[in-house]
Amino acid sequence: MISRLHDPDYDRWACQIKRTGGCRQPIHLRGKVEHYDQATGRLLHRYSTTTEPNGVLRVPCKTRRVTRCPACAEVYRADTYQLVRAGLVGGKGVPETVKSHPCLFVTLTAPSFGAVHTRREKNGKTLPCHARRNAETCPHGQAMSCTDRHSSDDPRLGEPLCAECYDYDGSVLFNAISPELWRRFTLALRRRFARLNGLTVKAMRSQVSIAFAKVAEYQRRGVVHFHAVIRLDGPDGPDTPPPAWATADDLDQAVQHAAAAVTAEVKPLGRAFRWGTQLDSRRITLEGDLTDQAVAAYIAKYATKAAECVGTLDRRIQPLDDLNALPVREHARRLIAACMRLGSRSGLADLRLTHWAHMLGFRGHFSTKSRRYSTTLGALRAAREEHMRTEEITTGRLPLFDEDTVLVVAHWQYAGQGLSLGEQLLAAALTGVPLPSVGGGPR
Ligand SMILES: [Zn+2]
Ligand SMILES: [Zn+2]
Ligand SMILES: [Zn+2]
Repeated sequence: MISRLHDPDYDRWACQIKRTGGCRQPIHLRGKVEHYDQATGRLLHRYSTTTEPNGVLRVPCKTRRVTRCPACAEVYRADTYQLVRAGLVGGKGVPETVKSHPCLFVTLTAPSFGAVHTRREKNGKTLPCHARRNAETCPHGQAMSCTDRHSSDDPRLGEPLCAECYDYDGSVLFNAISPELWRRFTLALRRRFARLNGLTVKAMRSQVSIAFAKVAEYQRRGVVHFHAVIRLDGPDGPDTPPPAWATADDLDQAVQHAAAAVTAEVKPLGRAFRWGTQLDSRRITLEGDLTDQAVAAYIAKYATKAAECVGTLDRRIQPLDDLNALPVREHARRLIAACMRLGSRSGLADLRLTHWAHMLGFRGHFSTKSRRYSTTLGALRAAREEHMRTEEITTGRLPLFDEDTVLVVAHWQYAGQGLSLGEQLLAAALTGVPLPSVGGGPR
């Protein structure tokens, strides 16, 4: 910290760090950007990192994982919020008339893989976990009952009553196959909606399109479930209104049917998976219980969470890692072990379970949307970068050229990542983003 403070380049370094917005693990780039006049070949402007502190430019890591970098994850969360919200009320290139399109908020859950400790509430009172009068005893001598009233921070929540009985293989296979199950759900939904209105899917496409935005969320037991916004549009997406016959009630019926009907099979094991019986489908309205704002905030919240909220790791597990030594709870360890064991079977190579063991088998994207739902994360990023560039030009760091007449040549090289401990302290003071807690602790 002292050597950084006394460095003659300190001011420039501090400026770089402020511009990363408090990124905890900035990426170091070495390189240059040159602007040439296309007609004459004359060099108009050159930026090189050789004059920067340590000869590198520090840029944000742009991760979406809050455990790795809270500042960058916050940017991702805010972008996701804007993206989902634009699809509900308009903005960012989506017309405001989209508000009047029928729209549902749907939660698809995973099936049961064995009884787990749960917290249930009724009228503000916590109920016993699994109160059974004549509880069976499992083959391992465990009574299938738990009369505890678990507090919301009880570490046993989501853990099985009997770990020996729990279907760990099923749990990780469901996570692995869930993106395919989702894909089949969207196809079945379109088919059913068309049939309810006496049309073929092809005929429907010239009148109605169905748009989706979804996020995956880990439940405490370590399986993913999906929250989705499902909206009816006209044939050309959000710019066109759906016909009057395309109603939210029909959409809801089609959702119920598709969720119950679809299966996805892990062929080599002959195991088929379907959604759990708990299905939630509700209309999104501008007022009332389920508003556009609530939905957008809810989806954005989950976009930055990953499996670590279940108590697993936020990094890949290496083949030589000692599973017993991993700093995770027993339930997560067994899920990871199931991934490693099944992942080594040649017939299941497609599922890449070893590679995604730290995600408990899930290798899908956390937030996805159909092409015409709203704007894209890329467009939001481009808009922000354009804003930064304008700022650079007005503050004189970059010259203003007419884009068509200038040739830009850039060479960048990755030169490392992160901050030293001393730099972390300075960065926290400069950006107001708190330091990571030392020693980990419960997550
Ligand atoms: Zn970052
Ligand atoms: Zn319990
Ligand atoms: Zn048992």
